[in-house]
This record gives sequence, structure tokens and C-alpha cells, in this order.
Amino acid sequence: MPSSQAPKSSQDYDNESLEILNNFICHLNTADDESYPDEASIDLKYTADLQRKRLHSKNAGIKTEYRFYKNKLRGVAWKLDKDTRYITRMPFYLLHTKSEYFVNNKLKKRHKEDQTLYSQAIWLKDQNINASYCCPNCGAVSSTSKLINGCSQCGTKFLMSDLFPKITNYYTLKKENYSAALIPCIIIGILFALGFCGYANYDNIIADISSTEIFPKIALAGVAALAAGAGVVMGYLLFAVFTVLLVLSQALLSLPYLIQLIKTRIKLPKFMREFEPNFSLDHFIGKLTALVGIMVYTDDYSNCAVYCGEPAENRFKNIIDLRYYGYMNFEDAHIEGNYVYLNMDIHMNTVYCKGSHISKKKDIFSLLLCKNVNAENDYGFSIHKIECQNCGASFDATREKYCPYCHSPYHIQNYDWVVLKFDKK
Ligand SMILES: [Zn+2]
Ligand SMILES: [Zn+2]
Repeated sequence: MPSSQAPKSSQDYDNESLEILNNFICHLNTADDESYPDEASIDLKYTADLQRKRLHSKNAGIKTEYRFYKNKLRGVAWKLDKDTRYITRMPFYLLHTKSEYFVNNKLKKRHKEDQTLYSQAIWLKDQNINASYCCPNCGAVSSTSKLINGCSQCGTKFLMSDLFPKITNYYTLKKENYSAALIPCIIIGILFALGFCGYANYDNIIADISSTEIFPKIALAGVAALAAGAGVVMGYLLFAVFTVLLVLSQALLSLPYLIQLIKTRIKLPKFMREFEPNFSLDHFIGKLTALVGIMVYTDDYSNCAVYCGEPAENRFKNIIDLRYYGYMNFEDAHIEGNYVYLNMDIHMNTVYCKGSHISKKKDIFSLLLCKNVNAENDYGFSIHKIECQNCGASFDATREKYCPYCHSPYHIQNYDWVVLKFDKK
């Protein structure tokens, strides 16, 4: 499979990203409690795992089935940022989608629609997942790709980049289908034309109908057919006006968000690259969506590795599904000492389950993020051993904040983004 090999010099990233996404979608269809697509990033797998726990706690279930169009309608969309050490592509497929929501094994909602599934496929340039690495704790030698779950000999955990290429994020947009309005518009047009014609010539029509001769009746039928024909044209014009108004109103409604997105696209990479030259906005979006997922699906924040704010209660325990749909806003940022602080808004499609009631919403979440300005954001080049400052034990500090042996905190913000504030707008 080409997707698991180290990048070649002249790689066709567009086609490869489509192939990775194709496999990802196939694996999503067969994913269950034990398996999640291998094409997914660690963060995406982890949030899917947390979501599964949330669904279990609510006795709820979501079953989504994606079917490709016969001719596999697909493409690679315009991405937000240029390639740095991260190479990013936004492959998409047009799909027939069926989503079913269950509570207590009872079907509560079913959606069948055509959607475009967009995703972010990411490579890390020159990442050599087969390089050998000597465990600093026990000296065992293993390949980088084996270390992602820790040293197989002594269990020491490491901070390192994902084994790219991976899908870091995906979302679906409904394929707008206005054609359903065409027939009603034409019927309205015909009824209107016939009604108008009948009203204007009421006396003549009565005279023609009551006439004993055949000719006036044929003439009447001819006029009625002409009126109906004019009605079809009117109906079609009505449909055209309706479609244009609908598209325009949708574009106007989302215009402020689009402006925010463009502002984010220009300002955030410029700000970040002053101290992190390989910053990639497309890669960052994967991180951001994962952080929102972790904050929504983690019931208890007290041992949540990525939450370093004031003690807080999770207020989003009714959310059972969450998907980014393309808009975000870079509010502001500042640097204080060795840390950078970022205020971000992100738009999500959410599904709530309250009791046995399922409802869909659009939510905007706001986050205050923090990270050490000296953090190396690609551990592919330098692997960090995770060691408790107090007792020296190694544990997965990307998922647990406190050392399980001596309960000292591990400061993951020295290496990666953490959340200081999280709320809904
Ligand atoms: Zn070891
Ligand atoms: Zn410890």
C-alpha cells in the first residue's frame, strides 16, 4: 500500500490523498467498538474512542453508512495553507449517506442525503518511520513506527509525531438539491396561468361551454393548453428566482464567517511562523478539532492531560456527535514569557442526546490555547522520553495529566497545545 511508505521525491499527493480517503471511508463503514480506520491520526482515533464511551454512557448509538457514487465523484479541494514540513491535501468524495441515531436500541432519527465528505490528509516530509531508535531507558533497539505505543521491552512512553500520512480530520457537507422545488413551482405556474385566463375570460368560457357547436370547445381547449404552456414557463422562471434567492441568502448568511476564515488563514500562520517556521494551519485544524472533541467527550477534566485551566465541570455531557464544518476564527494571540496564548473559535455541527431525545444543532466553541514557544512541533525528528520529574516513571502524558505513581503533574504544554478555557458561544 503506497500510503504507508515514506514519501518519495516526486509524489502525486493529490491522487494518493484520494486513495487514503477512499480506504478511510471503506474502513469507517466497517468500524466497530474495537476497530477504527488505520488511516486516522492518533488524535482522531482517540476522540472516536472517547465518543464511543459517551455513547455507551447514554445508551445511544450512531450508525452511518457511506456509499460511493457509481462513478466515484471525487476531487481535491482548495486548502487553507501552503505546505511546510507538513504536506497537506483536502481530498473529497461525493457520497450517498445514511445516518441512524438510536437510544435504548430504538431508532430515533434517520437521515438519508447526498453529502460531500471532505478530509485533511497530511504527510510529514522526510519522516522515516523505519529508522531505528535506541530506548534511553533500557537500550532496546526498535523502529520509530513501533515506538508509538511505547518501548516494547520496558514500556517507556515517548512524545513523538504521528506516523504520517494520516487523515487528521473529516467533515461532511450536504449536497444542496434544489430540484425538489421545480415541480411545485411549475404546478403553481400552471394553476396561476389557467386561473388568470379563466377569470379574465369568464363570460366567453361559459358561452363556449354551453354552446352546442363543437368548434368553440376545441378553441377553448386550445387556449387552455396555451395558458398551461405559459404556466410552465412562468413556473420555471419562479423556480429560477427561488433558487437564486436561496443561494444568495445562504451566501449572505455565511459571509461574516467566510471573512473570519480568510482573516484566520492570513493572520494565524504569519503570527505562528515567527517562532515555529513549520507551522501549518491545515495541521493545526486537526489539533484544534481533536482538542474540542477531548473537551466535549471527557467527563472529568481533573486528570485530562490537555486541560490546564481552572478546575471546571464539563457542561457538554449531552453531546454525542461533533463535526467541524469548515469555519473558524482567530480572535487574538499574545506571547507571555515562554508561552504563546491563542484565542480561537471553531464552528461545529453537534448532535445532542437528552434522555431519549435526539436533536441537531450548530455550535460555536471558543478556546484559549497555550503552548511553549520553544516546543518542537514535529517529534518525528526528535523523540522525547516521557519521564515524571518527581519519580522518574514513564506514562502516557498525552492522555493523563498526573503521574499514576506519585501524582505529580506533567507539563505537556512544553511540547504541545493545551486548553486553558473552553466554552460555547
Ligand atoms: Zn525500553
Ligand atoms: Zn511520578
